[in-house]
Amino acid sequence: MIDKNRRKMMGMFGAGAVAVPLTAVVGTLPSRAQDTLPAVDPESAQASALQYVAESPDPATNCANCTLYQGAEGEEMGPCPLFPGSSVHAAGWCSAYVPMG
Ligand code: SF4
Repeated sequence: MIDKNRRKMMGMFGAGAVAVPLTAVVGTLPSRAQDTLPAVDPESAQASALQYVAESPDPATNCANCTLYQGAEGEEMGPCPLFPGSSVHAAGWCSAYVPMG
C-alpha cells in the first residue's frame, strides 16, 4: 500500500517537473511573441528615455543588427528586452544599441 502511494506521488512530481520547462520554452518562442506584441510607442517614457526611433538615422546601425534584438531575421519587427511587452522595428534604433559581434 505504501509503495503504491509512493509511486503515485513520484509520478505526480515527475509530471510537474516536465510541465514547467515546457511552458517556459513555449512562452519564449520569438515567432509567437512577434505575433502578439504591439509596436513600441515612441512617445512612451521608456522610448523617450532611450531615444528610440522606428527608423534609424544610420542604416548601418539598427535593431536588426543589435545584440539585444530578438526578432527573426527578415521580419519587420521583433522583441527587445528593453521594451518588455512590445516589439521594436528592425530598422529602428535606440541609445542602448549594442553592435553584434
Ligand atoms: S536595445 Fe535599442 S537598438 Fe537594440 S534592439 Fe533594443 S531598441 Fe533596438
